[in-house]
Amino acid sequence: MNTNPLAAVRNLGILAHVDAGKTTVTERILFATGTTHRRGEVHDGTTVTDFDSQERDRGITIFAAAVSCAWDGHRVNLIDTPGHVDFADEVERSLRVLDGAVAVFDAVAGVEPQSESVWRQADRHGVPRIAFVNKLDRAGADLDTAVESIRERLHPAPLVVQLPIGSEDAFTGVVDLLRMRALTWPDGGDTVHEGPVPTALREEAARRRRLLEETVAELHPGALEEFCARSALDTPTLVDALRDLTRTGDGVVVLCGSAYRNRGIEPLLDAVVAYLPSPLDVPAVRGTHDDEVTERAADPQAPFAALAFKVNATPTGRLTYLRVYSGTIEKGAAVMDAGARRTERIGRILRVQADRHAQLERAVAGDIVAVVGLKSARPGSTLCAPGAPLVLEPPSAAEPVVSVA
Ligand code: GDP
Repeated sequence: MNTNPLAAVRNLGILAHVDAGKTTVTERILFATGTTHRRGEVHDGTTVTDFDSQERDRGITIFAAAVSCAWDGHRVNLIDTPGHVDFADEVERSLRVLDGAVAVFDAVAGVEPQSESVWRQADRHGVPRIAFVNKLDRAGADLDTAVESIRERLHPAPLVVQLPIGSEDAFTGVVDLLRMRALTWPDGGDTVHEGPVPTALREEAARRRRLLEETVAELHPGALEEFCARSALDTPTLVDALRDLTRTGDGVVVLCGSAYRNRGIEPLLDAVVAYLPSPLDVPAVRGTHDDEVTERAADPQAPFAALAFKVNATPTGRLTYLRVYSGTIEKGAAVMDAGARRTERIGRILRVQADRHAQLERAVAGDIVAVVGLKSARPGSTLCAPGAPLVLEPPSAAEPVVSVA
């Protein structure tokens, strides 16, 4: 077990075609993690992550570029990625700062044009992904058809780890094929109930588990060895192999549910923690100074370097959202805006938690925070220690983590 606290951080984005349910999934994640205590609905204008006039009215940032939540001993920083193609630049910028993503698909429409283009962008940035097939409660929803469209149009091998229980209006939960347990969300309830696999689904669940084991064995040399020796894979081996395949991009773990009905969000969060990388698992970033290229790993002791990815004017002040790549920054410290070659002082350091800001004394490598007090930084600016200047390279010049077919 890794004792470095960074191992328990997930910098996560949610990618989707407009209308697939990105806002609803985000909202339900905030609710499931206790970040908000009321379920917002898209149609009644109460969602936390969608911009609305409450921001001005209440003097707090409701539309945040990054919201921090807690799940199973991990800190999940949820980074907003615009869903609309018109914001392709903003999508690019947010893809630079996240370490992993959940791609949300509509269970009726499957892969749609924007899901395809954002998938390709994520490929270019080497962002490992898992897939969530949403809206299983809709008429015409079909997990298998959606999974086929992922295979045909996006190309990674789908690694389906759940079997839906019931369909359309009667969709009540999923069989977790790793633990062979049924997870259900009884009507009106917000909490997941765990129980034995329903008798009628046992055969199908066993068949799908077998299929998952065979697919993983085909793709993963270590798993293949065990599969050949025992003609089966035990669950820990399967989980390890699924993590590896997610990180290489050779396979995509597929989960399903209905965000609107609040079904499937807890297992999705478990999968985020299990399969997506921490800041320690991603390659060091590269930066240049006077034509010299240096690498910066996620090391709190290294010189400070961060990328500004969003600037929001709020009643709290001008908030600059930063991804810290290396080093540690204390509140009140001087930093250099490497492009503008200007040194400024960082005022407060904030972690945004839906409707409030937690004030921090410092931010370390791997963190996503908002800082107050910077005047010149723009989205895309590098901030660094004045004694160790560098400009972070655009990621297209860095080695991809994910091999693109
Ligand atoms: P976004 O554009 O990707 O952010 O999608 P939204 O979260 O705004 O959802 C688009 C529409 O689909 C809204 O009317 C949601 O209420 C609806 N929706 C989201 N998730 C589900 C779901 O699981 N089932 C059904 N039936 N509708 C959903």
